[in-house]
Amino acid sequence: MVSTTVGVVKEPSPGESRVSLIPEQVSRLKTSGLDVVVESAAGHGAHIADEEYTAAGAAVVAVDELYERADIITRVSALSAADAKRLRDGQLLAGLLEPLRYLDIMRELAANNITTASLDMLPRTLSRAQSMDVLSSQANIAGYKAAVLAADNYGRYFPMLTTAAGTSPPANALILGTGVAGLSAIGTARRLGAVVTAYDVRPESRAEVESLGARFLELETTVAASGTGGYARALTEDERAAQQRELSTRIGKFDVVITTAKVPGKTPPLLVTREALAGMRPGSVVVDLAASDLGGNVAGSEPESTIDIDGVRVIGAGNLPSVMASAASAAYSRNMFAFLSHLIDEGSVAIDLDDEINAGVIITHNRSFVNKIVADAEAA
Ligand code: NAD
Repeated sequence: MVSTTVGVVKEPSPGESRVSLIPEQVSRLKTSGLDVVVESAAGHGAHIADEEYTAAGAAVVAVDELYERADIITRVSALSAADAKRLRDGQLLAGLLEPLRYLDIMRELAANNITTASLDMLPRTLSRAQSMDVLSSQANIAGYKAAVLAADNYGRYFPMLTTAAGTSPPANALILGTGVAGLSAIGTARRLGAVVTAYDVRPESRAEVESLGARFLELETTVAASGTGGYARALTEDERAAQQRELSTRIGKFDVVITTAKVPGKTPPLLVTREALAGMRPGSVVVDLAASDLGGNVAGSEPESTIDIDGVRVIGAGNLPSVMASAASAAYSRNMFAFLSHLIDEGSVAIDLDDEINAGVIITHNRSFVNKIVADAEAA
């Protein structure tokens, strides 16, 4: 029997340092009877040498050979139109493909009979899917790093400190959005000694916030905006305006604000307005984890750059997992391995679309859109 070959690409985007499989999981794939090819230098951003992949049993090859030999191609970030052209009939591509954002590319992949598996579409509340939950593993890292980054950029201490030179008060930190990244930021900011307050539109998040020793911010304009699958729903125009107004009056008393609010498939909500920034003390720090080309949670924040707005340092940090590429790749690789193990039966890809995990993750198969959400978006 010809064995299935998994190919690990070097992420082509200059801002992406992660790699989708590390040698530990390569060796486990080999043990399960699969072949693995890895693009030369794929692990460099995560400090993994080609020799480590070779030692794990992979063949290290140039990019053209990788696309030629692989049956399954794994990657981290969404692919460009140019990358899409490299794929050939019958291959399977797995990664964070953001199909709703890149519908045109998905359409082309479907037409070329590429099966696509997008781990950002995983049904995350299923307990058997948790080992594959890339969004959670990466958000955990982003939240941790956001708090560390804020502390590094803040010109004062996070903890209260008493020395012979006097007493410094603790930093007051506000975390907006308390999903996986927000909770991780709360935990880290608390461990660094800050006094932490947090807010989310899902009322059920209050207990999680309080269990981490943070205060839940009471807003008079709060609406319960839980959506489906544990996510928030988008606020209406009126709700959004009321939330922005009230938050603007409250944000000024914080030294550090970390925003993590997202709504699946929508532009991130604007939570920190220009007025709110103007009300903050000079030297305060704002970290926007939602910053991307689509916008962010903070007015004026720019993806992957730090700017000064009215004396406040605003850090656009939409891809912090890439900054911690070693930890992020290790977690991503474990998630990817769990997914491939789910997908592969006796050495070959077996796609059962009646399975709930596959029904969420598989976007294109047999030349059509098989994921309901993406198929609906395509039909609209
Ligand atoms: P996310 O990245 O989609 O959003 C981050 C947070 O922003 C969410 O908590 C959301 O409620 C909040 N938010 C959205 N709009 C807001 C606004 N206008 N103002 C304030 N906050 C706003 O979320 P996530 O981290 O992917 O997690 C979403 C949910 O999924 C959480 O409830 C999480 O516990 C749940 N989850 C469950 C599982 C599981 O059951 N195994 C796994 C992962 C996540």
